[in-house]
Amino acid sequence: MTDRIYLASPHMSEEGYEMQFVQEAFDSNWIAPLGENVNQFENELASFVGVGSAAALSSGTSAIHLALKAAQIEAGDIVFCSTLTFSATANPIIYQNATPVFVDSEKETWNICPEALERACIKYPEAKAVIVVHLYGLSADLDRIIKICNKHNIVLIEDAAESLGTYYKGQHTGSFGEYGIFSFNGNKIITTSGGGMLVSNNMERIEKSRFWATQSRDKAAHYQHSELGFNYRMSNVVAGIGRGQLKVLRDRVEKKRAIYFFYKEQLSHIAGVKMMPENSWDRPNYWLSTIMLEGKTRPLDVINALDEHNIEARRVWKPMHQQPYFLEYDYIGGNIAEQLFENGVCLPSDTKITDFQLEKITKIIKGLM
Ligand SMILES: *Cc1c(COP(=O)(O)O)cnc(C)c1O
Repeated sequence: MTDRIYLASPHMSEEGYEMQFVQEAFDSNWIAPLGENVNQFENELASFVGVGSAAALSSGTSAIHLALKAAQIEAGDIVFCSTLTFSATANPIIYQNATPVFVDSEKETWNICPEALERACIKYPEAKAVIVVHLYGLSADLDRIIKICNKHNIVLIEDAAESLGTYYKGQHTGSFGEYGIFSFNGNKIITTSGGGMLVSNNMERIEKSRFWATQSRDKAAHYQHSELGFNYRMSNVVAGIGRGQLKVLRDRVEKKRAIYFFYKEQLSHIAGVKMMPENSWDRPNYWLSTIMLEGKTRPLDVINALDEHNIEARRVWKPMHQQPYFLEYDYIGGNIAEQLFENGVCLPSDTKITDFQLEKITKIIKGLM
């Protein structure tokens, strides 16, 4: 059996940058959720993304949770949320005892539909915030979304977990909203094995988030807490991996882009196959190359055929409003996200993939059409 080809797996630098920063953490004995790597990873990521400040956290999920807290989302508040996403986007709304209202995708971007969002704002004028996801590295149509947020006075939180390296009209995703979050989970474009980042131009709110993330310890000679605390800080060892990975982020985007265009060249002219959208404003990171099947070949046919050759492919996220856990919550929109789930397949987009392996994958897919 040949080695498995993955959708996306960790890819450390050939130069060994990550180990150098990890070694510094060991040498200085800062094996703790604070230290030089944490501070520098925050600075380096903030500067890459173009935001005022950043808080390094234990996961993207904890970053979304603290974004909601920073935005003062409390029990009973309404928070709009892209329906086509991973559950980690929506779960923190429940952690805050707030109420999610899911919003459909639009065909042109696969991301939150501005028209449906507008309808949601009219139905729920008391809503406080919206979490907009940049799915698979494609940016949502931020100009239209920001207009709606301003008009209805709702806080924009960008879930940029999948879009590090993606630009919308020349500006990095995650830097448009009052808050943005990134993830460094093992399958993301760069990884720290696990971790996340909360970013904002509001330094006071980021400082406050660091406070919450370290058990809300008041400034006192003893352990004193006047607020509920969380253990959400990133380890200094893990932050070292992140600093090394940031050095090769541009290379990873280049490779992901090459993978996407390989698939496009091989598959886009085949009847029944459509590539993911491309928009003039967008410079995506091409995190996962994704196709839509419009003929009689179904997503599971492709996934199973690839799996027989030890190759991983996966269906598009199942929309949140169709998840058993979230069924009781309202949903605004039509069936766009549902159709993307029904017909979509995420193809292997691992940055260690070879041209030979890409040839093999497209040959298997073509054989099914
Ligand atoms: C990965 C991911 C998250 C969660 O990040 P973790 O670091 O795994 O907690 C949130 N939202 C989206 C869209 C993701 O893909």
